[in-house]
Formats: sequence, C-alpha cells, structure tokens
Amino acid sequence: MAWGQTSMVTFSFELFPPAKPEGIKNVVATAKTLSSFAPDMISITYGAGGTGRERSARLVAALHGNDFPPITAHITVAGQSKHDVIHQMEEWQQHGVKRFVALRGDMPNMKRPFTPHDDGFTSALDLITYLRLHHAEAIYAGAYPEGHPESPSLEAELDHLMAKQDAGATALITQYFFDINNFLRFRDKVVARGITIPLIPGVLPIGHFEKIQKFSASCGAHIPDQLKIRFAGLENDPEAMAMMGACVGYELCAQLAHEAVPSIHLYTLNRADISTTICRMFQGEPQ
Ligand code: FAD
Repeated sequence: MAWGQTSMVTFSFELFPPAKPEGIKNVVATAKTLSSFAPDMISITYGAGGTGRERSARLVAALHGNDFPPITAHITVAGQSKHDVIHQMEEWQQHGVKRFVALRGDMPNMKRPFTPHDDGFTSALDLITYLRLHHAEAIYAGAYPEGHPESPSLEAELDHLMAKQDAGATALITQYFFDINNFLRFRDKVVARGITIPLIPGVLPIGHFEKIQKFSASCGAHIPDQLKIRFAGLENDPEAMAMMGACVGYELCAQLAHEAVPSIHLYTLNRADISTTICRMFQGEPQ
C-alpha cells in the first residue's frame, strides 16, 4: 500500500463524561458529529476508583436510544466492592450496553502497588471472566506498548495479556504512544507470544501539549523530542495547537494504516474538532 492509501482504516472514539450535567448535551453533540465517520464503537470512560460513576451513568443514559454506534462502557474495579461494580454494569445493561472496556484501574491518588478492595474483583482478569460469563458482546482490555508503570518485565506483561485473552477478552486497546516504532515492536511481540485477538492502537490527538506532557509522565508514555519541537511556541495559540495536534495525529494514524493496522481508537478528550479533522483527512467529508 502506498503512503496515503489508508481508507480501509476504521476508527473508534473515546469520550469522557462532563463534570456538570449541563455539559452532557455538548458531549452528545460530539458523539453525533463523530458518528458520521461510522466508528466501530464509542466508548465512555469511568472515573478512577469509581469516582464520578454517576457522571458516566448519566452520559451512557443520554446516548442510549439515539442512533449511535455501539456504546461501550469502561469499568474499573480498583477501590470498589464487587457489589457496586456489578450494580453499575447491570444498570448499563438496562441501557442496552453490551460492550465493555474491562480494567483493573488505579488506586486513589495513583498509589502503587494495586491492592484489591476487600470485597472487590481482584484484577482485570477477574472482571473479564465475570463479563464473559455474563454474556458481554465484546470485552476490550488494556495493553501497554511502552510498558505499564507496574510492569515487572515485558515477558510478564505478555503473559498477562495472554491471560486476558484466555479469560475472554475479545480485543486489546493500547495506551497511547507517539513513536510508532514502540507500537510496532510491541505488536511483533504480542503476535509472537500467540495472542490472536485484535490489538487496537490508541492514538491521542493533542489539543493541549503541556497537559499531555504532564499526564504522560504518570502513565509512562514517552514524548519524543521531535514532538516537543513541533509544539514549541504554540502555548498561547490554541488554534495553531489544535492544527498541529490534528497534523501529528493524522501522521501517526497514516503510518499505522501503512503498517496494515485495520482499526484505531482515538482518545478524543471530547475534542470533536481535532478528531474530525483527522478522520476527514482519511475519508473525505462524511456522507
Ligand atoms: P492490568 O493490565 O491488569 O495491570 C496493569 C499492569 O500491571 C499490567 O500491564 C502489568 O504490567 C502489571 N500486572 C498486573 N497484573 C499482572 C499479572 N498478574 N502478571 C503480570 N503483570 C501484571 N482508567 C480509569 O480510571 N478509567 C478509564 O475509563 C480508563 N480507561 C482506559 C482505557 C484504556 C484503553 C487503557 C489502556 C487504560 C485506561 N485507564 C482508565 C487506565 C487504567 O485504569 C490504568 O492504566 C490501570 O493502571 C491499569 O488497568 P489495566 O486493566 O490495564 O491493568
């Protein structure tokens, strides 16, 4: 495939619930805009440790019944009882949600290492097993091309991913990365380990470089120097920042498509503008 011949790629989009109920209509509008690109699914994040569970629930409820692509709910188990997590999942199932991103999650204040709640699910594997037994239609799990801050080793990480597949995960979505070589090396290792479920790369379109730099330090995503150079001097020019974010995001997606990646998950951070520009660069105007 020649550079630029990338139209076979499909996208999925991640949205997060707004802090205030008044913000819901903006996120629903964003979901509508992004739906015109026929995404594989739209996923809704879940507050760390179950905080803001009500916010996620409100957004899922607002999206329910509209003509959206499958709504996928993220669930984390850290800091919550099994009863609370199951109650939440059942509520979403009543809203027609059959797909989940199943995560262990982080302890409050990112305290490490992870310790399960006394009455909680013990791990991502435990949650995936529960979802498989309770007929989830799709179970996405997390994967970390540049390693998770708690990774004992790459080998242990790959064993853990294999265990996620064996427990019933139907696909893996990666943490975001900016250097495609880190993803490609990881993909080779995942395939060599015998993991056959799709490995969907997560791409984060940058709307605010400084914030992303800060967050990346805590989740272990490497920021290449080249990227710092491209965003230098744009701090006070949000339009130029967004334009650069769309260019950088598109380039990474195009490289991934060139490497035969069939689907990409965009961490939209609720910025319809940047994700829309990236998708338009791929597919032309939506029908
Ligand atoms: P796991 O993969 O189960 O564990 C994390 C790491 O610990 C592993 O990668 C591995 O290195 C190590 N590890 C754990 N158990 C073992 C084991 N048995 N053997 C070997 N190694 C082990 N957070 C939120 O709060 N809300 C969200 O909505 C949210 N959405 C996310 C979506 C995606 C696609 C991703 C990738 C992450 C998301 N996160 C979210 C962040 C996530 O909660 C954190 O990264 C968390 O620290 C890990 O959750 P996990 O299920 O991937 O954990």
